[in-house]
Amino acid sequence: MRVAVVAVQGDVEEHEWALKRAGEELGEDVKVVWARYPEDLEGVDAVVLPGGESTTIGRLLERHGLVKPLLELSESEVPFLGTCAGMVLMAREVVPQAHPGTEVDVEQPLLGLMDVRVVRNAFGRQRESFEVDLEIEGLEGGEFRAVFIRAPAVDEILSDDVRVLAEYGDHAVAVEQDHLLATAFHPELTDDPRLHAYFLEKA
Ligand code: GLN
Repeated sequence: MRVAVVAVQGDVEEHEWALKRAGEELGEDVKVVWARYPEDLEGVDAVVLPGGESTTIGRLLERHGLVKPLLELSESEVPFLGTCAGMVLMAREVVPQAHPGTEVDVEQPLLGLMDVRVVRNAFGRQRESFEVDLEIEGLEGGEFRAVFIRAPAVDEILSDDVRVLAEYGDHAVAVEQDHLLATAFHPELTDDPRLHAYFLEKA
């Protein structure tokens, strides 16, 4: 199986490692492609949008000509996983509402694949980074250690096709819509391959 990790900015290597681990767990041979230009996306079975800085990643996607091929892959129902900044990029709507001192760019380019509204930096300054154990629907074997780093969150679900897999406080922090999966936290930063395995099983 060929999995593309979009590699214009963000924590690409961590995803590569997590995907390989999940592949081992599933007995699946996973080849990871670092996708920088359109040709890197040819024939891939799944796509990961990593964490990082979503405005920067969005602008680089445009500059590298990746927006159209990514939209085409999603149109053909190739599974996508977006984590943190990746979740922001996958959202149909993004609210610039952020806590004082964490204002964000409203004009950022989005892929707009998922029927959710996302708030950037949803947890504010005091909680820039934290970890919690979350119950995630679809993952067996108990709670999942979720690492949040200046994390976004879903504050509104815009269609009945979206399923909330995990919540924290008032927000949805893991959501699924058909072939699309997004988390506000970073499953690539913990030593637990279950979420990546769940994703690979969709591919
Ligand atoms: N706050 C970042 C953004 O909105 C995301 C942070 C992250 O990916 N860890 O782009």
